[in-house]
Amino acid sequence: MKLLFEISKEGHGCDLLPALDVPEAVLPEKERRDTPLPLPQLSEIELSRHYTRLMKRTFGVNSGFYPLGSCTMKYNPRINEDMASLPGFKDIHPLQPEHTVQGCMEVFSETEKALCEITGMDAVTFQPAAGAHGELAGVLLIKAYHASRGDTGRTKIIIPDAAHGTNPASAAMAGFTVVNIPSDAEGCVDVEKLRAVAGDDTAGLMLTNPNTLGLFDKNILEITKIIHDAGGLNYYDGANLNAVMGIVRPGDMGFDIVHLNIHKTFSTPHGGGGPGSGPVGCKAFLREFLPVYQIVENEGKYSFSDPAKTIGSVKAFYGHFLVVVRALTYIRTLGAEGIRYAAIHAVLNANYMQKKLSEYFDLAYGGLCMHEFVLTLRRVKEETGVTALDVAKTLLENGIHPPTMYFPLIVHEALMIEPTETESKETVDEAIAVFKKVYDMIQTNPKQLHEMPLTTPVRRPDEVGAARNPRLKFVESQIV
Ligand SMILES: *Cc1c(COP(=O)(O)O)cnc(C)c1O
Repeated sequence: MKLLFEISKEGHGCDLLPALDVPEAVLPEKERRDTPLPLPQLSEIELSRHYTRLMKRTFGVNSGFYPLGSCTMKYNPRINEDMASLPGFKDIHPLQPEHTVQGCMEVFSETEKALCEITGMDAVTFQPAAGAHGELAGVLLIKAYHASRGDTGRTKIIIPDAAHGTNPASAAMAGFTVVNIPSDAEGCVDVEKLRAVAGDDTAGLMLTNPNTLGLFDKNILEITKIIHDAGGLNYYDGANLNAVMGIVRPGDMGFDIVHLNIHKTFSTPHGGGGPGSGPVGCKAFLREFLPVYQIVENEGKYSFSDPAKTIGSVKAFYGHFLVVVRALTYIRTLGAEGIRYAAIHAVLNANYMQKKLSEYFDLAYGGLCMHEFVLTLRRVKEETGVTALDVAKTLLENGIHPPTMYFPLIVHEALMIEPTETESKETVDEAIAVFKKVYDMIQTNPKQLHEMPLTTPVRRPDEVGAARNPRLKFVESQIV
C-alpha cells in the first residue's frame, strides 16, 4: 500500500482554513522556515480513500471477535461518541475560566462519585493519562503517605509474579525496590511467602484481583490484612475490574488505592496509542496527597482546589476529559444493574469458552475463571513443534483476532483469552469452532501452521526489527 507521501501530487492539496476571527499576527522573520513544509498534497477523496484502505487492513473490535486477555478490548457504544462530540465538551480550552466550564467540571465530579461507588474509595484524581501512569501516581501516594509520617524505612513494594509488567516498572520509577513473590499451585498469592517478606521495610503491596490469570484470590482479606499489619498500604491494579464491577469492591477487599483503566472497563476504545485515562481512587486518609486540580463543589458551583499535601502534577492540566465523558456516558447508560450485568456476562462468556476449549487445549490453571483464562500450549509445542505464535497467526488467517500471547510470563506458551460481555453465544460458538479447526490442523498437518497467515495484508512482520530500528520518517530513497 502506498504512503500519503507517495500518492501526493503538487497542487492536489485541499487545505481550507476558516476565516481569521482574531487580529493577524506575523511571525518574526528569524522564526520562519526557509523552505515550505514538505507535507503531502492530496484531494479530499484521495485522503478519504487512503484512510478507508488503511482501515480495511486493520483488525479491530468492530471487525470481529477480539479476545485480548488482560486488556478488555470491549465494544465502545456509539452513544459515547455522540456525547464526546457535543461542542460544549469538545470545543473547550484548558485555560478557560472556571465559571465557563461548570458543566465539564460537573462531568468530572459525577464520574468521581460513580467511580467511588464502584470501587469503594472516597476520592478520585483524573490526571493520569493511562493505567501505568495511574500506577505511578498511586505509588507516589504511598511514598508521600509514609514520608508524611516520618516513616522513611519503607523502601519495598511487594508484587506477585503474575502481575502486569507495568506494576514493577511503576514501583521502580517511584524509587522503590520491588520484591517479587511467587504464585502458589492454584495461581494465587502464596500467603506464607507473603507473610515471610512483609515487614517494617514494606511500603505496600500492588495486586490485581482477579489476577492476570483470571483468578479471584479467595485469600484476599488475609492478604491485605498482612500488609496493613506490617504497616504498609494496599494498591489495587483495577485494570481487571470488568470481572467484578457492581459485585465486589477493592475498597471492601482492604485496598487503600486503586487505579482504573477507563479506556478498558468503561469502554473507550484504545490500542494504537489512542488516549487513555487512568484515574486513581484512594481512601479518605490519602485524599490530601492526591495530584493537583481536585474539583470541589460548593452550593452547586464547582472549583479546582489543590489537596493540602499534594504530590503535585503528574500531567499538564486535568486529564483526558473526553475519555471521562465516554466513561460517564457508559456508566449512566448501563446504570447500577447494567454495570453488574456486564461483569456477570463477561465472566459467563469466559467460563463457557474455557470449558469448551479445555476439550482441545490444556488450561494453565483449572477451576472457575473470572473475565479471562489462560491456555498453555507447552504440550502442543513439545509434541508437534507448533507454538502459541503459530496458533495466534492461524486464528488471524481464520478471521478472528488472536488472544494475548506469552503473557503472563509464568505460563509456558500462554494464550490468554478474554471474550468480554458484549459477545453473543453465537459469536463465542463461532470462535470456539475456529479454535477447534486450528486444533484439527495441528493433529493432521502441524507444519502448515508455521506458514500462517497466508491471506492477511501483513503476514509475519519483523516485530523486533520494528522495535529496534523504527523508521519514523519518510525518506524517498527508502521506498521499496
Ligand atoms: C492494561 C493494564 C495495565 C496498564 O494500563 P495502560 O493503560 O496500558 O498503561 C496495568 N495493569 C493491568 C492488569 C492491565 O491489564
